[in-house]
Amino acid sequence: MPHPNKNSGKKNAETFEFRSIGVIATPFKQKFGIPRQSQALSTATGIIQFASDINPINACRGLEAFSHLWISFIFHENIQSGWKDTVRPPRLGGNEKVGVFASRSTYRPNPIGLSVVKNIGLNEYNDLVIAGVDLLDQTPIIDIKPYIHYADSVNDAISGYAEGAPAMKMQVNYSPLAYSKLQTLLNTYPDFECLLNNVLEQDPRPAYKSAMKDEKIYSVLLHNVDIKWQVRDTINYVLDIETH
Ligand code: SAH
Repeated sequence: MPHPNKNSGKKNAETFEFRSIGVIATPFKQKFGIPRQSQALSTATGIIQFASDINPINACRGLEAFSHLWISFIFHENIQSGWKDTVRPPRLGGNEKVGVFASRSTYRPNPIGLSVVKNIGLNEYNDLVIAGVDLLDQTPIIDIKPYIHYADSVNDAISGYAEGAPAMKMQVNYSPLAYSKLQTLLNTYPDFECLLNNVLEQDPRPAYKSAMKDEKIYSVLLHNVDIKWQVRDTINYVLDIETH
């Protein structure tokens, strides 16, 4: 029997074209280290620079009354990589597969991301400043909508394998060298210590690494700062910090 909604005569696949409304500047210059969901990192701020034909004063009028926003964006770094219909979510330790639509995978049939962020407001250049971002620097933004508490939050929602808060936060310690370099950095980026702690305490390593002995020296780039760190016992130990 044919599917009741099947429109046999007409083309049932359609394509749509979207434009970017702007790009976002964030501290994350590479995918490694970015939190897996936006709210996990309230210290990471992003600045949306609007396209030249958009007047932010008009297009954002009234937005200042909303504390949180939905940001739709393109996973632009993944566009070439395609997608698979099953994925291994990090929350399942990378061992179990679920369908792409049961996941927040960044490899999707349409590479669209959706994040709830805090609204800080327009700055003096009429860029929109937001906090709690999980977006790569220079990500194209395709839409902004106000977060509406009564409609968007569901008190008794059940979240499958993603139920409950993510795994325990890791402790972060610094070598004396790294710590002294960090202090000078705070002149340029006052929130840097907080940002770095947030990034490392959520253990950015691939999920399977946390279960085995791991002596690797990892490197993560935030703004123009390269951070080298290693796991010692169960602590993330920052070895060195270098500004490029
Ligand atoms: N909250 C969003 C994104 C969750 S995934 C959603 O659910 O749709 C967050 C991950 O997206 C980050 O860890 C980072 O690795 C990846 N990411 C962020 N911006 C990206 C971009 N422009 N291209 C590809 N991957 C990106």
